[in-house]
Amino acid sequence: MTASQLFDNHGRPTNYLRLAVTDRCNLRCFYCMPEEGIKYLPKKDLLSFEEIERLVTLFGQMGITKIRLTGGEPFVRTDLMELIRAIVKIKGINDIHITTNGILTAPHIPELKSLGIASVNLSLDTLDRERFKIITRRDEFEKTRETFQLLLKYEIPVKINTVVMEGKNIGDILEMVKLTKDQNVSVRFIEEMPFNGEGSHYSTLRWTYKKILEHIQQEFPSIKKIQDEKNSTAYHYQVPGHKGNVSIIAAFSRTFCGTCNRIRLTAQGILKTCLYDDGVLNIKDLMRSGVSDLKIKEQLLHAFSHRPKDGFEAEQNRKGHPLLESMSTIGG
Ligand code: SAM
Repeated sequence: MTASQLFDNHGRPTNYLRLAVTDRCNLRCFYCMPEEGIKYLPKKDLLSFEEIERLVTLFGQMGITKIRLTGGEPFVRTDLMELIRAIVKIKGINDIHITTNGILTAPHIPELKSLGIASVNLSLDTLDRERFKIITRRDEFEKTRETFQLLLKYEIPVKINTVVMEGKNIGDILEMVKLTKDQNVSVRFIEEMPFNGEGSHYSTLRWTYKKILEHIQQEFPSIKKIQDEKNSTAYHYQVPGHKGNVSIIAAFSRTFCGTCNRIRLTAQGILKTCLYDDGVLNIKDLMRSGVSDLKIKEQLLHAFSHRPKDGFEAEQNRKGHPLLESMSTIGG
């Protein structure tokens, strides 16, 4: 089987795996987790690094070429660098990306550069220390900022993920756009989704991608649509003359499912073929039952050929479970 042969039942290529290496996090962002945290998995319920390596090797053989390590906070898992060193050697995996809050990341940046990490998505919802404290319920702004500066210094492509939240960081939107003037950074505004471990905060979402764009256009009327990367979930824009760019992710409106090329592995080792499904295959149990690589691949192929057409269908197919997960177990 060659990489180009892995298509789902809707003709979409499936080549991107998002892997949550832990459900633990050192922040308590209010849109992601309740203040008291979530009930973390015991260590034995997380995939071991050996299990992750085995799985990624299989995925690489099946046509997955891009991996994102996420969490929870991936750097909370001790020896994450050991895992990254192993994954960069796996055949077929060409691009490794990381999503992090940046708190424990800075010391590893030189090695991430030398290992050829393709990009880092840094979650940062505000440029103000006090608002950071309110949103994340932790006083760690300076560490995230240091990571941002180092990523720029080491020229690792960096995208800032900013969840747009009514009453919390609307005043930051334009400040974030201004960051793109002199820095080669991509600022991504994300619609808030109901994955906060408690259920939706709102009956309807006010800050949709359309409203976010209109808000930016008021201050930057010359902002232009630019080419989106293939299979991108983000709509890209640039203010003429700015070094960086801006994008908006309609994660709640779900307007991008037609080109979705991604699958997810949760911290519990559950495969999700859509962000909004409630898990389609327990890969951890399957692996621990002692089955062969061939059997695992068969089950994965079955899952890839039964993907819902979009996030609405996936949500409908949930087995009666409301959307109460925390993004910390899903990985974003
Ligand atoms: N801890 C890492 C971090 O902060 O980047 C990785 C995991 S975090 C769950 C991944 C991404 O999901 C972050 O950019 C975060 O902002 C986003 N996220 C979490 N909960 C969300 C929600 N309810 N709606 C939209 N995005 C969310």
